[in-house]
Amino acid sequence: MVVKEVAGGRVRLRTVNLAGAHPRWRVEPTLEELRREVSWIAGREIAMGEPLWLSRFSDFSRVVSSYRRGRMFVAGDAAHVHFPIGGQGLSTGLLDAVDLGWKLAFAVRGWAGAGLLDSYDLERRPAAQRVIAHTRAQVALMRPGPELEPLRVLFGELLAGGGEAGVLASMVSGQDTVLPVRGRRGVGWEGRFLPNVALVTGEGSTDVIALLGGGGPLLLLFGERGAGGGFEEQVRGWAGLVRVVRCEEVAGLECAALLVRPDGYVAWASGGEGPAGVLEEYFGAPANAGEAAANAGEAAANAGEAAANAGEAAANAGEAPEAAGEAPEAAGEAPAMAGEAPAMAAKSGVVPGVGEVPAGVAG
Ligand SMILES: Cc1cc2nc3c(=O)[nH]c(=O)nc-3n(C[C@H](O)[C@H](O)[C@H](O)COP(=O)(O)OP(=O)(O)OC[C@H]3O[C@@H](n4cnc5c(N)ncnc54)[C@H](O)[C@@H]3O)c2cc1C
Repeated sequence: MVVKEVAGGRVRLRTVNLAGAHPRWRVEPTLEELRREVSWIAGREIAMGEPLWLSRFSDFSRVVSSYRRGRMFVAGDAAHVHFPIGGQGLSTGLLDAVDLGWKLAFAVRGWAGAGLLDSYDLERRPAAQRVIAHTRAQVALMRPGPELEPLRVLFGELLAGGGEAGVLASMVSGQDTVLPVRGRRGVGWEGRFLPNVALVTGEGSTDVIALLGGGGPLLLLFGERGAGGGFEEQVRGWAGLVRVVRCEEVAGLECAALLVRPDGYVAWASGGEGPAGVLEEYFGAPANAGEAAANAGEAAANAGEAAANAGEAAANAGEAPEAAGEAPEAAGEAPAMAGEAPAMAAKSGVVPGVGEVPAGVAG
């Protein structure tokens, strides 16, 4: 049971019963049901009245079979649901929107390469599948029963050790998400989320988010290796879209050049082939990009700024974010859900003036 005081002298109560499937999980919860459950956990009768809000949630997991069908896209809980543990649902949905937002903006402007919109499903559905797998693992650890006790002790020791806690934090925040690199073998940073590192350019100090504020992709050239590597010439065909920034080398990045997408993920890293192939995948042939040069700025800037802010928010939240997709066939048809039957039920509600509920009671 979780008890939390909220504004206006009210109390939010949440009970979770991991014993098994709830027989009436489809039925709306009542105050009497919540009251009985709370009283059972607390070990004494608890009075309640005037519920403001009552709802029921479960540990069922669902993910759509495709994030796109024709002109229809799904994001957030419409695409994936799971037991709300680890605080990942909202952030995963936010990261869907960040991934989709700039791609839609580019498609609307005519700057998207073939397949850019389909990459939304390729990138975000595996991320949701991963979150679902992790929440199911957490639920498994929560289930009562002595047979799970050694596993709980083991996890406790791993977390207390420190190193693994960092791994789990990156997993829960989504910062360890690596995007699939289409048709190629990824080099170095490719597919990874670039942290908001400080950068020193000829114009002064800046950082990744500030540079992405323009809404377009960013080619970062590090030190002399970057400036002299011929990369700037290779992106000239997309000069209207790609912002090229020369900066000092950054400890930890260890590469000559990076092409960063508007959402902060690395589209290309030096060390393998040049960036032209990747640029064509994302933004079409150079001629397409040349047309964009005249208009680049305002629309993409809005989308990019929102994406950069949301990306940072998700990365900072500490609570927040990868299979092949099917080609969309019929527009207007809802993507099908695939999942499992509910096995557990839980209730929550906001009840005003329940002063007699002891804070911190847990069961
Ligand atoms: C108890 C609980 C605790 C949670 N805690 C956390 C947490 O700590 N951290 C976290 O990240 N996530 C948490 N989550 C998950 C999080 O709440 C959801 O992932 C998130 O709210 C999903 O946002 P969404 O915008 O995709 O969908 P929703 O929040 O469901 O928004 C969809 C909106 O669309 C509206 N709508 C539906 N149908 C129609 C229609 N036909 N026309 C117009 N409007 C419509 C709905 O009314 C709703 O307002 C929790 C969930 C639960 C149940």
